[in-house]
Amino acid sequence: MERVEKNKENLMKCICMKKCPSYTFACKVKSMPSNTAELLKGAVKGDLSKTDHIEGVFCAFGKSNCITDDKGCVCPECAVYKENNLTKVYYCLDEGGR
Ligand code: SF4
Ligand code: SF4
Repeated sequence: MERVEKNKENLMKCICMKKCPSYTFACKVKSMPSNTAELLKGAVKGDLSKTDHIEGVFCAFGKSNCITDDKGCVCPECAVYKENNLTKVYYCLDEGGR
């Protein structure tokens, strides 16, 4: 399965929350408190490798707890996608993408 490193660089590059039509406004609102908490935890060490899940970088952290509909996937436009030679889409809906 395609696996991407869990780190802050990849999180900054991830365009799921910024550009994706499948990442609904409701999911953004819902995921913000937990994302912020996880990020603060990670920020202490600058490393997210111990973080189980955040609502972003789904190619590294696994599928979303909130996104449910495939309304388009912008992964192929993402730097992380290119750097890791990813080939699939919808990492938020299917573990390892589809
Ligand atoms: S490839 Fe997709 S899921 Fe992975 S970091 Fe980029 S936009 Fe996010
Ligand atoms: S994995 Fe693809 S479909 Fe899911 S939020 Fe990211 S860009 Fe959108």
